[in-house]
Amino acid sequence: MARKVIIAGNWKMNKNAAEGKALIEDLKAACGKCCCCEADVVVCPPFTTIGAVVEAVKGTAIKVGAQNIHWADNGAFTGEISGDMLKNAGVEYVIIGHSERRQYFGETDATVNARLKAALKYDLIPIVCVGELLDERESGKTEEVLTRQIKGGFADISAEDMAKTIVAYEPVWAIGTGKTATPDIAQAAHKHIRKEIAALFGEEVAEKVRIQYGGSMKASNARELVAQKDIDGGLIGGAALKAADFLDLIKEALGK
Ligand code: PEP
Repeated sequence: MARKVIIAGNWKMNKNAAEGKALIEDLKAACGKCCCCEADVVVCPPFTTIGAVVEAVKGTAIKVGAQNIHWADNGAFTGEISGDMLKNAGVEYVIIGHSERRQYFGETDATVNARLKAALKYDLIPIVCVGELLDERESGKTEEVLTRQIKGGFADISAEDMAKTIVAYEPVWAIGTGKTATPDIAQAAHKHIRKEIAALFGEEVAEKVRIQYGGSMKASNARELVAQKDIDGGLIGGAALKAADFLDLIKEALGK
């Protein structure tokens, strides 16, 4: 079954509104001359940049995502953002459980699960991140960690909702480090993730779920990674911050 390639740029805490708009204008300038419409392309700016980017992408196939969502509808949660706010701002996707959230902001599989339920409630497409730390890989615990994150993160989710969810495999040792997992290493992890999804939700759902790779993906390695059977795209940090790099990466991921 062919799954459509999905490339999402996680801008992290980069790009104010003017800079975000300028990056989208650069991406748009290449439209018609590139093949990026053949993939689902998503950009995930910081919250205060979302409004400018939603305006800037109008009339294009580029979709906008957020980098976090709170599980409550509203209330006394200083510094957080709700699904209703994101939906009203024109957001369609949301990254949940990025390793930086897990590492610096106390995100756990339980909070990932609560945020995932909120995203689904507001009809936002979740991009749920999983991945092992370097010492977990070195001590042979990669599969155990991925299984735990999947069971905890996707607890009490219906098969129908799971089929809409995107998973991003992001080995933490490869994020922002320039160290990319080899295609074989990444494929083995993706295969394990799909197997676990099949065990929880059935083969049919597992075949539908798109699993992105994230961790120092760039134009020079995207083609080989996305050519792997269970790798359906990428969640991109550094290489999403310049239009030319992002477009080159998309082209390579599509095998063009
Ligand atoms: C990320 O933050 O999700 C990521 C994959 O970053 P980078 O591409 O910079 O490694």
